[in-house]
Amino acid sequence: GERHMSDKTVAILGATGVVGTQMLVSLEERGFPVGRLVPLASARSVEAGRVVRFRGEDVPVELARPEAFEGVDIVLGAASDELAGKLLPEAVKRGATCVDNSHAFRLDADVPLVVPEINAADIAGNNGIVSNPNCATIIGLVPLWPLHQAAGLTRLVVSTYQAASGAGMAGLRELERETRAVAADEPMGQTDPFAHQLAHNLIPQIGGFDEMGYTSEEMKMQNEGRKIMHLPDLRVNCTCVRVPVARSHSESITCEFTRPLSVDQARELLEAAPGVRVVDDPAAGVYPMPLDTSDQDLIWVGRLRRDLSAPEGASALTFWCCGDQIRKGAATNAVQIAEHLL
Ligand code: NAP
Repeated sequence: GERHMSDKTVAILGATGVVGTQMLVSLEERGFPVGRLVPLASARSVEAGRVVRFRGEDVPVELARPEAFEGVDIVLGAASDELAGKLLPEAVKRGATCVDNSHAFRLDADVPLVVPEINAADIAGNNGIVSNPNCATIIGLVPLWPLHQAAGLTRLVVSTYQAASGAGMAGLRELERETRAVAADEPMGQTDPFAHQLAHNLIPQIGGFDEMGYTSEEMKMQNEGRKIMHLPDLRVNCTCVRVPVARSHSESITCEFTRPLSVDQARELLEAAPGVRVVDDPAAGVYPMPLDTSDQDLIWVGRLRRDLSAPEGASALTFWCCGDQIRKGAATNAVQIAEHLL
């Protein structure tokens, strides 16, 4: 197509992975002004002659290395913490601004951690890197934010039900393989990247455990949630579980507030909230489910009800939400942030 002065050279670090592949789609869908696309991946992909499909054209994958960022305006990071930690500072040195999906920089004081519906204003304070939050954190916070603004959030109790593709292409492929192995009554063998068989099972561990018995994934809900919402004292108790679902994370959330908030008020706020869709007619069997939220950008909220366990006079609600962790939990949120950099 025609090139414009405002068109950007955009690199994707990890362009062949689950998140990188979705970034290509999100850039295209949202009409991001890409003048030149630089898809970066490992030597494996380059040696195999891999291409990525972008706007109807095959673009050859290039090796992810510091020199690849020469002349790049915006880098979308979709690689491991280690690779992002090593390569993104090289991109910044060469004048690029990076939106990173890894955990590497998220809690750094000079790195904005952004969900555009909540704290887009923080992007202005970046020093070359803006971080995209953890996927489960984004999916929970999008509906929590309007409730917080109305009633003052003080405490969260969250259980997550996280899809296999949250562990990347390898996780998705492994669930597919295990599902076939179970159906064929074959021996399971190695279950990498999962520590246990996931098909017909649940794994209550995502990441490593700390000395208190919480996993790294669980502590992201607290630490990233506090940073994004500017609520340093927010109390969070989170349990993260890997479930045999291909795509879309689900969450059960109980939230406490300083001020009264009825179920009806909460429903009205959620119906008006950007990025949220209320799907809540339980008597008719209508509520969010991960199959239905896959491959779209909204966080679906339902099962909205009073918290029966809250002390007398306390303001607390319970709800269920689902969202596509590859889209709003990663690629789409990153492209939304990049739009603010234009
Ligand atoms: P993935 O599917 O495993 O993709 C990894 C990407 O990194 C691939 O493009 C891979 O290229 C590339 N890569 C791996 N080793 C490399 C190396 N040595 N040099 C250059 N490139 C290399 O992972 P993903 O799920 O997309 O996750 C990417 C990042 O996003 C991670 O930080 C993850 O935590 C985060 N994230 C993931 C999700 C999700 O739902 N999956 C959600 C939110 C955030 P090759 O094809 O050449 O190996």
